[in-house]
Amino acid sequence: MNAELKPQPNIKTAIKIKRTPRVVIVGAGMSGLLSAIKLRDAGITNITILEKADKVGGTWRDNTYPGLSCDVPAHMYTYSFAGNPEYSNRYAKGPEIQAYFERVSKEYELESLIQFSTEVTDAQYENAEWRLTTASGEQLVADIVLCATGVLHHPRYPDIPGLEDFNGEMWHTARWNHNVDLTGKRVGIIGTGSTATQIVAAITDKVGTLNLFQRTAQWIYPLFDREYKESHKEKLRNDKSLSRKLHDRYSWLFNVTFPKLVTGNRLLQWLVSYTCKWHLESKVKDPALREKLRPSYQAGCKRLIFAKGFYEAIQKDNANLITENIERIEPTGVRTKDGQLHECDVLVLATGFHAHSFMRPMEMHGVDGQSLAQLWSEGAFAHKTISLPGFPNFFMLTGPNSPIGNFSLIAINELQVDYILKLIEKWTSGEADAIEPRAEVTSLYNQKLQDSMNHTIWVTGCKSWYFDEFGKLAMWPWSMDLFREEMAAPKWEEFELTTLAQNSD
Ligand code: NAP
Repeated sequence: MNAELKPQPNIKTAIKIKRTPRVVIVGAGMSGLLSAIKLRDAGITNITILEKADKVGGTWRDNTYPGLSCDVPAHMYTYSFAGNPEYSNRYAKGPEIQAYFERVSKEYELESLIQFSTEVTDAQYENAEWRLTTASGEQLVADIVLCATGVLHHPRYPDIPGLEDFNGEMWHTARWNHNVDLTGKRVGIIGTGSTATQIVAAITDKVGTLNLFQRTAQWIYPLFDREYKESHKEKLRNDKSLSRKLHDRYSWLFNVTFPKLVTGNRLLQWLVSYTCKWHLESKVKDPALREKLRPSYQAGCKRLIFAKGFYEAIQKDNANLITENIERIEPTGVRTKDGQLHECDVLVLATGFHAHSFMRPMEMHGVDGQSLAQLWSEGAFAHKTISLPGFPNFFMLTGPNSPIGNFSLIAINELQVDYILKLIEKWTSGEADAIEPRAEVTSLYNQKLQDSMNHTIWVTGCKSWYFDEFGKLAMWPWSMDLFREEMAAPKWEEFELTTLAQNSD
């Protein structure tokens, strides 16, 4: 465990601490760093962050593809307590966001808490302690474990026949190979999600030919970006409250629009559909191409793409949109079902992520040896996105059904950490040695959650990663206000609080 640290009292009120827990946070991405900052600020001093890579940043460290940017406004995509005056644009570029997290990690002196190149492979709960094992065989003991392992973390490789036969260079978008110069190359991209859209806009001018393999068309909302002038940055540098104002203003705007869009507000749905159609029709001149790019489902059913430059790029002379389904991959390219071979030097798999893995493949066993694999055998779930029955003193950031998609995950995670802190307070105050949600409450809550999916836009006729392989909704189907309300304070009747003395009775 790490050395004791002085809390930096500037973020949140401290919790009652009569004893100090040994806390392990798994993951040093955005939510892991946030958890460490907030826990330490609340007065918890014994914190270790275990990070499997050799740098902080999570998704922003792993994704380095050309054109990477965040389609959530930059000043909203910061911790509420640590603005970033240096953002170059309204929508920040990937490297700027990575630099922000590295800077926060340094400024908040988190590096000393982090054990890099340490992957947790196993966690077992016994006698009110978690015993963690890492890939190198190291053992650690913790009173409280937080999994901050992200959502879009495990690349999904498509199961297209012949993939391994391809003779050219091939990689997933989250594993970009910067050693290959794309200049003049014949590049194939499989997939048309947010990632592919950004890449197409960024590389088409550079490559020889670009073949975009589209299985399903996507609605694209225009991204109204703008560059921030030096004078704007200077103002933010001089007055720290301005970043916070921008953060709160954008957050307000997102909160009053997206949750309503996806949970049935007809006016917003019409407005978004209208804007996406206008975007497509005003940008794409060739009627045949336009129809190929026109989705057959409602805008917002899949995660809405916000992008700039994609429609311009796909109309360039060297770009082809291929809508024939893929038959197989061959050594020299992609064979589509119409028999045509599309030769490629480079194949980019923009095929998304296993969004429902959470901390897996890490193995976990809770009370009486119950395995996570058993508990989640019919899909991942949690009590209010955070905790699991039978897994005491274990909490997730961005756990199952967190409000993700077109929101700033940072804001969601801030609410989640504050809620987790209130659970942890039961331990630090000595009131309980084990805190877990009641099984029947968790089950009822999840039933209600799944029953609520029918009023969402996600069930209106498209396939997306918003549902897991069992057809269960993986998103938050209610308003943001309700999420904020749920996270404001735990309802203690929903939890089992036990002490070691009780256990030994
Ligand atoms: P994605 O949205 O899951 O898209 C994957 C694409 O690959 C889809 O077009 C899918 O087609 C296609 N695909 C998958 N398997 C295929 C196969 N076997 N054959 C042909 N096509 C196949 O993945 P993503 O674009 O990486 O985005 C994932 C998420 O990352 C986004 O939804 C978003 O939440 C996040 N993201 C955010 C930003 C941002 O700016 N904030 C940027 C990039 C990504 P189907 O549609 O037919 O399944």
